[in-house]
Amino acid sequence: MTETTDILISGGGIAGLIAAAAFGAAGFATLVVDPAPPASSDADPDADLRSTAFLQPSVRLLDEIGLWPRLAPHATPLQVMRIVDAGGPAPEPRAIRDFDAAEISDQPFGWNLPNWLLRREIAAHLETLTGTRFRPGCGLAGLLARETEARARLSDGTTVSARLLVGADGRDSAVRTALGIGARTCRYGQKALVFAVTHPIPHGNVSTEIHRSGGPFTLVPLPDRDGLPCSAVVWMETGPEAMRLAALPAPAFEAELARRSCGLLGPLTLITRRPVWPIIARHADRLTGPRSALVAEAAHVVPPIGAQGLNMSLADIRTLRDLAVADPDALGSAGMLAAYARARAPEIRARLAGIDLLNRASMLAPQPLRDLRAAGLSAIHGIAPLRRLAMKAGLGIG
Ligand SMILES: Cc1cc2nc3c(=O)[nH]c(=O)nc-3n(C[C@H](O)[C@H](O)[C@H](O)COP(=O)(O)OP(=O)(O)OC[C@H]3O[C@@H](n4cnc5c(N)ncnc54)[C@H](O)[C@@H]3O)c2cc1C
Repeated sequence: MTETTDILISGGGIAGLIAAAAFGAAGFATLVVDPAPPASSDADPDADLRSTAFLQPSVRLLDEIGLWPRLAPHATPLQVMRIVDAGGPAPEPRAIRDFDAAEISDQPFGWNLPNWLLRREIAAHLETLTGTRFRPGCGLAGLLARETEARARLSDGTTVSARLLVGADGRDSAVRTALGIGARTCRYGQKALVFAVTHPIPHGNVSTEIHRSGGPFTLVPLPDRDGLPCSAVVWMETGPEAMRLAALPAPAFEAELARRSCGLLGPLTLITRRPVWPIIARHADRLTGPRSALVAEAAHVVPPIGAQGLNMSLADIRTLRDLAVADPDALGSAGMLAAYARARAPEIRARLAGIDLLNRASMLAPQPLRDLRAAGLSAIHGIAPLRRLAMKAGLGIG
């Protein structure tokens, strides 16, 4: 027997689940499938320990679709983005520049939440929406995409016919592969360690990005843990150095942490595992196929700089949702999909190029180039209109 639905979403990561909430809130019958069920705590061995900073435009979308009230109690505001250049001969801060959201808005830049908690809470929210179903433990196993329908075979043996298939199944997207869409990948020879720490000095809702070489070291505020200030860390390094750090015993690792964080928040205490993520940039050759659209990492992967990854994904989801709502009868039609690609492709290309540049600047090893980077930071920060422009560009609001 074949199930029918308006929209089938392959992939119930954060992007896929938010897409389901968006289409569900707009009244479309939506089914989302994912082989991996959400974790219930950060101690779960499969828990995604990354955190996501939702920037202002993303929070507006989450609010519109009724998700924000459920997420807000767990969110930490990001009021200031502090960029630190520690690229001198000694590993110590030589330029500290604060970008304060108050200069461009009466709101913080964004709000930060742990990924594992997001998946749990969004999945719980989907249960409150009539017509929206999340089927964990089940993935896309086969696809026949034609002009009339997307017919998917799922790993539980069922078949689903959808007017629109959304590929939100990550960087190695099964939908993208089944549609025969290629992807271009840039490898930086970098990896990121991802973990959480507590520290004696409060973060004061400041997100701190420290640049030396190998890539940024970023501390993002989280709610206090056991009465102590707490932050999520993404530490990017060359691959071999990241693997060396990952293998160190905790006390030796914490000593390295103290050095790399320049002691800005005092000694850092590791409180979670420290999984390693490969860092790549990738973009799909096309965003659509018959009755199908790619969103989020299925469409574009960027290095984790400036909290852009998932925020670009939410812009994909908003565009698709708006097109679907504007003309529900045309859901999944060639016209709707062409409009989606036209709207998203230029912005995706521009952000990929911008983040690529920032990542390469952060990786610089030769001293003269690191000096140039520090001068560039001071110049951008020192000229008020340029500073405000950079902040707005980061938020995607101007
Ligand atoms: C170290 C690091 C830090 C980051 N920090 C930030 C940040 O602060 N802010 C930000 O905006 N972005 C950040 N990002 C990017 C952000 O985490 C990603 O954009 C986001 O998690 C990707 O979401 P996704 O749903 O596209 O993919 P994923 O999270 O990979 O989800 C894809 C889902 O598809 C499922 N799947 C796989 N195969 C199938 C199949 N055959 N059928 C169905 N489902 C399938 C998987 O199980 C998975 O759950 C970071 C990335 C990294 C690497």
